Amino acid sequence: MKVLILGGTSDARALAQSLDGDGRFDVVTSLAGRVRDPLLPAGRVRVGGFGGVDGLASWIREHDIGAVVDATHPFAAQISENAVAAGATTSIPVASLRRRAWVPGPGDRWTAAASVQDAATIVGDRPRRVFLTIGRQGVGAFGGDATSWFLVRSIDPPDADLPPQHELLLARGPFTVDAERDLMRSRRIDLIVSKNSGGAMTEAKLLAARELGLPVVMIERPRPSNGDLETDSVADVVTWLDDHL
Ligand code: NAP
Repeated sequence: MKVLILGGTSDARALAQSLDGDGRFDVVTSLAGRVRDPLLPAGRVRVGGFGGVDGLASWIREHDIGAVVDATHPFAAQISENAVAAGATTSIPVASLRRRAWVPGPGDRWTAAASVQDAATIVGDRPRRVFLTIGRQGVGAFGGDATSWFLVRSIDPPDADLPPQHELLLARGPFTVDAERDLMRSRRIDLIVSKNSGGAMTEAKLLAARELGLPVVMIERPRPSNGDLETDSVADVVTWLDDHL
């Protein structure tokens, strides 16, 4: 069976890895093409948008896809919505592989933000030294904040204008708690802004923030578009694919 994995995450790479070499499945992973030097999954890869729901549905038909696994980032809401809609159009099953959201533990000082824009409003109420660790997308919401100083961390440079007072740190996780703590101390960070991406790859910043007693503005996930299966487990997806053979 031909399987399309919508990727761009470590979860998608883990799934591709576990299906690689399994003769029952012919897998292709799709990447949006946002990152200049992406970590590539095992197996075949295609890059670039499909052209909305209709484009994705056509691609599924043309390539005789038997199942789609949406393993995109929890904040990539558009492609997830498109996947569910294209699955309905083509009568092809769609599974959503999405890591669990982080939840605050004892000692955490989180303020929930409904969106990146909401987070920028919360940050903008007084001068701070902010660790802006939301990736490349959404940084523009903070571009007009001349009050605070920002440490902006992303894999590739953001396209948007950065705040007037900033340091840009280009780095790709995973990060260790020790390194995150040292980074926050050395830049005298007093507030962290994060998306609630979930997963182990970038959780160290939250553990370091907890240790240092630093507040976190946590941007909540957009409402998920779930397919026929919603899981955070690669093994569950493999079983589900097996059932659809
Ligand atoms: P998005 O807003 O949900 O999608 C915007 C458009 O980008 C989609 O309509 C689609 O274009 C194209 N696209 C997105 N993911 C694609 C994929 N895997 N393969 C082919 N086309 C894709 O997505 P986004 O937030 O820009 O994220 C883009 C990619 O980066 C995602 O694949 C995601 O897994 C990864 N990523 C995102 C974040 C984040 O914070 N948003 C963080 C880490 C990784 P068409 O309509 O033309 O098909």
